[in-house]
Amino acid sequence: MSTTDPDNPLRSPTSPVGPYCSFGGHLNNAELAETLSHHLLSFLGRDPQRAGNRELYKALAYTVRDFLIERWVKTQKEFYARNRKRVYYLSLEFLVGRSLGNSLVNLGLLDRVSETLKEMGYNLAEVREEEEDAALGNGGLGRLAACFLDSMATLGIPAYGYGIRYEYGLFYQRLLDGFQMETPDNWLRYGSPWEFERPWNLYPVKFNGRVYSYQDDQGRLRYEWVDTDEVMAMAHDVLVPGFNNDSVINMRLWSAKAPRDMDLVSFHRGDYVQAVRDVVDSETISKVLYPSDDIREGQELRFKQQYFFVAATFQDILRRYQKKHEDFKQFTDEVAVQLNDTHPAIAIPELMRLLLDEGGLGWEEAWEICVGTFGYTNHTLLPEALETWSVDLFGRILPRHLEIVYEINRRFLEEVAARFPGDQDRLRRMSLIAEGDEPKVRMAHLAIVGSHSTNGVAELHTHLQKTRIFKDFYDLYPERFNNKTNGITQRRWLLKSNPGLAALITEKIGGDWATDLYRLRELEPLAEDGEFRRRWLAVKHDNKRRLAALIDQRCGISVDPAALFDVHVKRLHEYKRQLLNALHVIVLYHRIIGGRAEGFPPRVVIFAGKAAPSYQRAKLIIKLINSVAETVHRDPRVEDRLKVVFIPNYGVSLAEKIIPAADLSEQISTAGTEASGTGNMKFALNGALTIGTMDGANIEMCEEFGRENMFIFGMTAEQVEAARRDPARQPQTVYQENEEIKAAVDALGAGIFSRGDSAIFRPLVDSLLSSDDPYLTLLDLPDYLRCQEEVGRAFDQRESWARKSIFNVARMGKFSTDRTIREYAREIWGLKV
Ligand SMILES: *Cc1c(COP(=O)(O)O)cnc(C)c1O
Repeated sequence: MSTTDPDNPLRSPTSPVGPYCSFGGHLNNAELAETLSHHLLSFLGRDPQRAGNRELYKALAYTVRDFLIERWVKTQKEFYARNRKRVYYLSLEFLVGRSLGNSLVNLGLLDRVSETLKEMGYNLAEVREEEEDAALGNGGLGRLAACFLDSMATLGIPAYGYGIRYEYGLFYQRLLDGFQMETPDNWLRYGSPWEFERPWNLYPVKFNGRVYSYQDDQGRLRYEWVDTDEVMAMAHDVLVPGFNNDSVINMRLWSAKAPRDMDLVSFHRGDYVQAVRDVVDSETISKVLYPSDDIREGQELRFKQQYFFVAATFQDILRRYQKKHEDFKQFTDEVAVQLNDTHPAIAIPELMRLLLDEGGLGWEEAWEICVGTFGYTNHTLLPEALETWSVDLFGRILPRHLEIVYEINRRFLEEVAARFPGDQDRLRRMSLIAEGDEPKVRMAHLAIVGSHSTNGVAELHTHLQKTRIFKDFYDLYPERFNNKTNGITQRRWLLKSNPGLAALITEKIGGDWATDLYRLRELEPLAEDGEFRRRWLAVKHDNKRRLAALIDQRCGISVDPAALFDVHVKRLHEYKRQLLNALHVIVLYHRIIGGRAEGFPPRVVIFAGKAAPSYQRAKLIIKLINSVAETVHRDPRVEDRLKVVFIPNYGVSLAEKIIPAADLSEQISTAGTEASGTGNMKFALNGALTIGTMDGANIEMCEEFGRENMFIFGMTAEQVEAARRDPARQPQTVYQENEEIKAAVDALGAGIFSRGDSAIFRPLVDSLLSSDDPYLTLLDLPDYLRCQEEVGRAFDQRESWARKSIFNVARMGKFSTDRTIREYAREIWGLKV
């Protein structure tokens, strides 16, 4: 590797590579303690004897990073030498959470470090709490990207994650009088010890300007993008270790920097302050993560973020490719690019531009490379979440790309017209441009047309793609559509987050499940072992005690660990139906104060989740949950039979504490709206039983577990479709005919939970009773109530509950991202794994 190679981390000025990095994983406790002291002294300028937890965290993180960097260099050399096809995973979000614990687990250092710290007078658990979450994502989509990196590293795939290094991650959520308040997530305040800055390798990214066309010396029409503004992209690498395999891959995150000679004109004019302001402006591109999940953001800055990271990434990909190649003939043999949703779909016209305008290729040849390179993962069924960009804005910021999109569309519509002659309506539906007062580019259409694979993230989702949202495209390109059911990494979501359960499982069946989750099947016979069931429940109880302490500390509410912990944690969204759950809570409350709750176990209903700051309805649901909680807790008749808790600031680290303590997992979206869900998998892997609709991956979990081991209720996706069209299916009917439901909705509307204020929750009441409530909440409520009663009875049969819990865990093999990634690798990327 040359000295200007940004793949070489040894060049980084912040890389503490010295005599302390070559211990190769075999150092003993004394050596480890010495390394820690060295880092404390030399990096932090502190007397190692007087370091606090925060200093120790940093020193430990740098020590681990030394370990990682050595292995990363080796891994990169191997990839280079073996010249294997590389996979580029492009995602605007990586919801990583904390790295220290995960790295220690994957490197096999957890026990040794824990012991050493103890000898030094520290507690590893406390030290780990010093780390800020890297919340560079909103929810499921970003967390999936992080699980994928863990699995790709563990499977030894030559992969790179590419994204943006947001200076501010997902906002920090506080509650003020039960309302969500957002504050900035300044996660880099104290710096991040996990990243390597590459300040000397900057790529220019252009915006705006105009297209200049001319004839080249062979008489061909050529295009040049001129008079552009420029921003520089600087790389930061975050290392991702595989589990126990010495393989380390990286996530390369770009931050925006002003070009050095930025706006010299202003300097010459003497307008120094304006010049500095321009610098600041151009650096805003990577300033903040947009906080919307499953809602479209039409902002110009978001569009710029998308192009910024794609343009920098492709310069990097081409640099790496061109080290070995003079032309593009081998491109699709060596490069696979996966688009995580349409957020990076601008990569399609960008690669075309690079091949046509800079590489001098002809259209057909460039297009074949383009389609061969890309795969596209669609993550949503909500039509309102499909991205579009106004042609106006698109053309202003990326004029050359808009021309290319038009040309792609012209050729594409010709193809459609040839296949389906005379079908004007089909042309209009399939066009990459939605016509109207304000014409828009449909990014999903662009992504399907410009790639060789479009996948959904669960069987039902893929089925609905083919039959509903992308039906026309499936008619044209059936071979492009495929399913890749999501998963989770068991390293973070069991081994690290639930050490008690992980140890019990390993004691019985060995530890191979960490890399082969299907091995959990061997737990099945143990469901009949009474002693094992006792220990299984004891681990759960222990986790519940710890969560109870956290709830006490953060919410000031005391809960009994013996109660049924009923948990609904995920983004706040109407389709996820936290409102359905809240209505159940109100019904329970009425039953308790009406003396109709005898024989049911005490419950703690736990919520957590952020609402997009602009999503008023979702924020009102947060307020409702907190208001119901207050009313219930204030009522002396309830005693300890019902508690309602909203834990603020849901994120990866909080999820790792909540999920191992859950008895019941709420996965109750309107059927046909949740693409897959991955929260559902995390809970089941930690021994919670699921109450859920036949939606997303719940269906496949049910196939694995058997219906008798899950609490299924509500309409299927087909029934939902039919109900939406059937004027006889009215929420009003449910409201009139079911006394308990009527009482619950009336209480909401009467201000029972809002100190007599009958206006505040009016919008929720109206939506529940509206004949076009898209989420059909009241229609599913009666069956939900029935199913919850069944849960209550089942929880009191502790032995059979434990059997079901063990059985669920034993059947979780399919839901590892190791399985998911193998399928992507073989069926989309063309790798052998
Ligand atoms: C897994 C996860 C999600 C996704 O949860 P769903 O229940 O699938 O919506 C969201 N946020 C965090 C922090 C997660 O860990």
